[in-house]
Amino acid sequence: MKIVRINVENDDIGFEEITSDSTYYLRGARGLSSLMIHDEVPPLCDPLGKENKLIIANGLLAGSPFPCSARTSVGAKSPLTNGIKEANLGGRPAMMLARHGIRAIILENISPLLKLILIDEDGIKLEPAEQYNNLGNYELHSKLKNKYGEKIGIYSIGPAGQYLMKSATVGANDLEGYPSRHAARGGLGAVMGSKKIKAIVIKPPKKSKVNMHDLKKFREVSSPFAKELAQVKETFSTFGTPLMMKAMSGYGGIPTKNFRMGSYDKIDNISGESLHELVLERGGKKRLACSPTCVIKCSNLIVDKDGNHITSSLEYETMALNGTNLLIDDLDSLARIDHLCDDVGIDTIEFGGTVGVAMDCGKLNWGDAEKVFEILDKEIRYNTEVGKLYGNGVKIIGEKLNAERIPQVKGQGISAYDSRVFKAMGVTYATSPMGADHTAGAAIANRVPSLHKDYGELTYNEQKLDLSFELQIYTTVMDSMGCCYFIGPSYENMEILANAINAMYNLTLTREDIIQIGIDIMKTELEFNRKAGITHDMNDVPRFFREEPSDPVDLKYTFELDDLKTFWNRLDKHEF
Ligand code: SF4
Repeated sequence: MKIVRINVENDDIGFEEITSDSTYYLRGARGLSSLMIHDEVPPLCDPLGKENKLIIANGLLAGSPFPCSARTSVGAKSPLTNGIKEANLGGRPAMMLARHGIRAIILENISPLLKLILIDEDGIKLEPAEQYNNLGNYELHSKLKNKYGEKIGIYSIGPAGQYLMKSATVGANDLEGYPSRHAARGGLGAVMGSKKIKAIVIKPPKKSKVNMHDLKKFREVSSPFAKELAQVKETFSTFGTPLMMKAMSGYGGIPTKNFRMGSYDKIDNISGESLHELVLERGGKKRLACSPTCVIKCSNLIVDKDGNHITSSLEYETMALNGTNLLIDDLDSLARIDHLCDDVGIDTIEFGGTVGVAMDCGKLNWGDAEKVFEILDKEIRYNTEVGKLYGNGVKIIGEKLNAERIPQVKGQGISAYDSRVFKAMGVTYATSPMGADHTAGAAIANRVPSLHKDYGELTYNEQKLDLSFELQIYTTVMDSMGCCYFIGPSYENMEILANAINAMYNLTLTREDIIQIGIDIMKTELEFNRKAGITHDMNDVPRFFREEPSDPVDLKYTFELDDLKTFWNRLDKHEF
């Protein structure tokens, strides 16, 4: 496997082979991007300037048949948090990169012109891309497929990325060919936009360059695990993440009306069950895999009354931040918002949080879906002043409107779980080096990082620091393997990952070695943030979560500041 270093300013392309004595040998995806950012990006640099680098990296298990292992990590210094950032996405391209023998692509400097990068059997080259200037992802992907073939994998940015909006995403095409998968959080699309790279196009190679030391042994580990996942996740496969809508509202922890409430009286209109019926009734699709090797298949495809594609895939976080949070209560509107966000290339979570703050300040009416479409389709798409107000995230709009309630941590909007109710999630938001990112340690109901420990009641503080800590470390490991976190960030699964790595790389790693990889990556990220000025003193949620009891369950955020500040002291002494 090799690392491809592209100086986009002068089209210079370098290759570095990752050998077994390289520091990068056991670093993949998030582990690799975070180490490179730590080693090569000046912590105080302008995230949208020349010195920042965009890293697109495969996991250690990419290219193998291990379940749900074909995700890509995108990393850089984030324009939203000013700290280290990794966001990962499914889709086609990770597997193609691995088959080309590429573990990571590093984009350096700033191109004078809009370009795309083409990877095929003949090598890698940069091409002018002015003809794609400001295109939305849907039209862009359609044109690229016409030119380079239906089977290509694509990473791309929409207009929001080109305008350097801080909520911009890096998108990819899914297995059906739609640009529906996004490295959404942290504004990484703006970093790609700052480099003036519109897309990376990968033609599938005829022959795979993935090395597998012992396929038989590998299958002995991965096949039973894949079988078990397919069985255990049966309900999840059928309904996907939208099934959480009703459950989270039932807990009183779904963001509603800019986090003023935690449950929604019209939740049945936009529940996972209602979505399921709508999709089946109209002939949409359920149980789709978003990337190769996925056995869980939690994605969906939504069509309109005439059977025309609206969006894929509508997920819980999008539905909550743009549905309950904005009091928009119909599924077609949510599907349209999702489509428009995918098209302009903007994070649905950050966008929903941003509009929620605007509605809370009286700039828009609650529930006005038409206005939300207009902001995406007419304002953000054309970089108007209004578009700039809504394209740069929760914190920026909150400060511009003098809002009192700004649901963000370290510059990034809070996701779809109220931290007053989901206590361990609230710890993750406050402490993760990634800002308020649920994917960094998603302590949702019933997720336990170890079957042998008791983590206490969901809504009580007891044991939640440890729960969040363990989830954050295990998630870091899984992110570095390129695995979807729905396979389960758990102590038990660390052993399965160790065995898979051993079979693939001819190693003898233990579960503890694998956990140590997660700890080392976390240290690297925290060290970068410290130098960038993102310190442990900033580990907290906005004041209103401490002062306003949640409605209707009457809970507040009550962790001691000191416990949050010293949270990462666990790194060297925690017993897993
Ligand atoms: S479980 Fe869902 S999100 Fe994860 S890889 Fe499969 S389809 Fe994608």
